[in-house]
Amino acid sequence: MPFNELGLSDKVLSAVTDAGYTEPTPIQAQAIPHVLARRDVLGLAQTGTGKTAAFVLPMLTLLEQGRARARMPRTLILEPTRELAAQVEENFVKYGKNHKLNVALLIGGVSFGDQDSKLLRGVDVLIATPGRLLDHVERGRLLLSGIEILVIDEADRMLDMGFIPDIERVCKLVPFTRQTLFFSATMPPEIQRLVSQFLSNPVQIEASRPSSTAANITQLLVACGREDHEKRDKLRDLIRGAENLQNGIIFCNRKRDVGVVHKSLQRHGFNVVALHGDMDQRSRMQALEQFRTGEATLLVASDVAARGLDIPAVSHVFNYDTPHHAEDYIHRIGRTGRAGRSGAAFTIVTHADVKSLAAIEKLIGNPIEWMNGQTLGDAPPREARSSSRGGERGGERGGERGEQRRGARPARRREERPQDERGHSERSHSHREEAPVAVASNVEELPRGNRPPRRERASAAPAPVETGPRPAPRAPVNPTTARRPQAERPHNDEPADTSHLPAFLLRPVKIKAG
Ligand code: AMP
Repeated sequence: MPFNELGLSDKVLSAVTDAGYTEPTPIQAQAIPHVLARRDVLGLAQTGTGKTAAFVLPMLTLLEQGRARARMPRTLILEPTRELAAQVEENFVKYGKNHKLNVALLIGGVSFGDQDSKLLRGVDVLIATPGRLLDHVERGRLLLSGIEILVIDEADRMLDMGFIPDIERVCKLVPFTRQTLFFSATMPPEIQRLVSQFLSNPVQIEASRPSSTAANITQLLVACGREDHEKRDKLRDLIRGAENLQNGIIFCNRKRDVGVVHKSLQRHGFNVVALHGDMDQRSRMQALEQFRTGEATLLVASDVAARGLDIPAVSHVFNYDTPHHAEDYIHRIGRTGRAGRSGAAFTIVTHADVKSLAAIEKLIGNPIEWMNGQTLGDAPPREARSSSRGGERGGERGGERGEQRRGARPARRREERPQDERGHSERSHSHREEAPVAVASNVEELPRGNRPPRRERASAAPAPVETGPRPAPRAPVNPTTARRPQAERPHNDEPADTSHLPAFLLRPVKIKAG
């Protein structure tokens, strides 16, 4: 069905044409007519399916009638992270270019004053992260009683981040008669409860996980006998040998490893940026932009920092760590092979990852192939194995010996200090040691007194991913990986390496650096 049969306004259709989209994606084709008919919609979809436009386009059409009043926004979109909120705003700018609508972004890390003056002017579309939104409400600067459409996006991620009580609060503050559009990639019981409580007779739409996409993804396991430096060795080999590598995301399970791997790759001359919750908002956006524009070839990220971000055309995913949660594997590899392109996903597996790997293979319904047929049996466990590159071993504590070490950059690692940032919303159960103080990481907000403890995600298995035919795994070195050196970026609050400290030492006491 073409766009012009969905009931969208001429202004919207013209912007869609300008954006170069010819056909609606399945979720757009299914959702848009229902949104325009003012029905509540429950969309089971993740990013990459075109779900943002599925609500932005009909919202723009509906917003053509009526106007905003001071401090009473007409529509509200809740996003779990600042980056996602900013992405949605970009969509409104792109598709709303023929409209004169006021769009405001309420996210942390930005001054209250600027946000407040926007609210005062009257807002048609308010895009917010839950904490900052409620802060404005609590200050009496924002009324939610004029909301006509409420969008709750990435609900399962909201759950991961402990935002569900905030969402419940918001749902009670907006009028009972509002239209609710609710999107989640998975439906754990907590999310189901939310849906039955706050949606009214919703139309359920399921945009199948891009299993066709996954069919284009070559998935390979890479056996690794040791943790730490041998993993980084392996990672570099994989990057250098990656076939047709245009850009790649390297996923780590823990944010501290994001920092370690990022620095390690930089020392080895790779063109790499990092995305982790300890970076300030500006640095995060800058890193993301560098990666989006191709200025940086590689992005090292944690799941929480990267999930849902719209990074088009990633050719490779490298799982530096096997994800502890099987569904994270699907989210990670879903970053590549988009829109029919082929992609490759490599997962480094150590002996400690056997259980996680079994869970992943169970979830996707297929065994994943080992690269070059080498299994963990070929990679002896820790004590039996020596480094494959003696020269690299010296780097373990005092700084790796980079092949292209830049003079300006000290090889010695920064003096280790306890983590001075607030804690993080990365999966609490697997990252407990990383969150000495309870506040979200890549989440925008400061701690709110009533914020509940972060919860474990319930196990709701997404649809299986098909695995496809696998091309030859190895290829010659790709020159794009070692382009010009990465400029020094501001790392005001670069994470300290606290790997040597047990979690309980980090938690109650805040030790100052230096
Ligand atoms: P989303 O799932 O909303 O994150 O969108 C994923 C990507 O698909 C974004 O880069 C969109 O710009 C793009 N996109 C959205 N709708 C369409 C469409 N109808 N045709 C082609 N690309 C689209």
